[in-house]
Amino acid sequence: MRAMVLDEPGRPLRAAELADPEPGPSQVLVRVDACGVCRTDLHVVDGELADPKLPLIVGHQIVGTVEGGGGSRFELGERVGVPWLGWTCGVCRYCRSGRENLCDEARFTGYQLDGGYAERTVADERFCIALPLEYPDVQAAPLLCAGLIGYRSLRLAGDAERLGLYGFGASAHIVAQVARAEGRRVFAFTRKGDDAAQQLALELGAEWAGDALGPAPEELDAAIVFAPSGELVPAGLRAIAKGGTLVCAGIHMSDIPSFPYELLWGERVVRSVANLTRRDGEEFLALAPRVPVRTEVEPFPLERANEALERVRDGEVRGAAVLVP
Ligand SMILES: [Zn+2]
Ligand SMILES: [Zn+2]
Repeated sequence: MRAMVLDEPGRPLRAAELADPEPGPSQVLVRVDACGVCRTDLHVVDGELADPKLPLIVGHQIVGTVEGGGGSRFELGERVGVPWLGWTCGVCRYCRSGRENLCDEARFTGYQLDGGYAERTVADERFCIALPLEYPDVQAAPLLCAGLIGYRSLRLAGDAERLGLYGFGASAHIVAQVARAEGRRVFAFTRKGDDAAQQLALELGAEWAGDALGPAPEELDAAIVFAPSGELVPAGLRAIAKGGTLVCAGIHMSDIPSFPYELLWGERVVRSVANLTRRDGEEFLALAPRVPVRTEVEPFPLERANEALERVRDGEVRGAAVLVP
């Protein structure tokens, strides 16, 4: 099979011809039909996440077709989604209390397990997700992380009426639609002068879009920070009202600059979102077609994975980038 391989962090992915993977116990062999490109892939490739499997195939928003293995949940020929959470121990305190996203032994697709920047992959079918029929493969891919993590972030932000989204990429473009369907008011904060992202936000129902480091147009009840930039934490705290929550949705962020306690005072909360549970997946994929969430995607052939990653890095993708093997 063709695959894009990370030999060492900090180096571009290498196009390679590899043997098809063999499914182990409870794994399915999946033909990859589409794989979303996530900012987390960039953090892995750049070496910002410790100890990846090497060599590694990144990619954790996989839409594919079962070609072998498994049988207890998915049949041959069935479409499956393979998300970031690839395996958990099932017995630790976190796993037993509905918080498998925090399992110390968890393994993640495209990080400790080979992922979807390839023609085939294997995945534990207990962690695969059934996908709503309404979505073609390419449009479904960004639901699997951008959508899922965004959904979890939105839940953890509480029932805020006035919601700020900091960084308007793949995840925010989905969350904005869910938030609008729930009757919330959405404010989009982007890099200064990022007209394309601001335009997309306004098209998707945001009532305001502007510079993330400038003043907010009015007080917010909650904020979700998707961009990996620590300076957005004090900026977001400045924008939210007393009792409001600021959620950091990314897996990696530059250092948060020190800020006066006054910004946190008034029972404001700063918290992170880590990974996802299978229950998040079931809930969000049932919800998405009801909203209905529409995903904006920019497809790339597998061989152009490095270019797709650079475009995500530079914030040049409208919506989400998706590789098509
Ligand atoms: Zn566990
Ligand atoms: Zn992701």
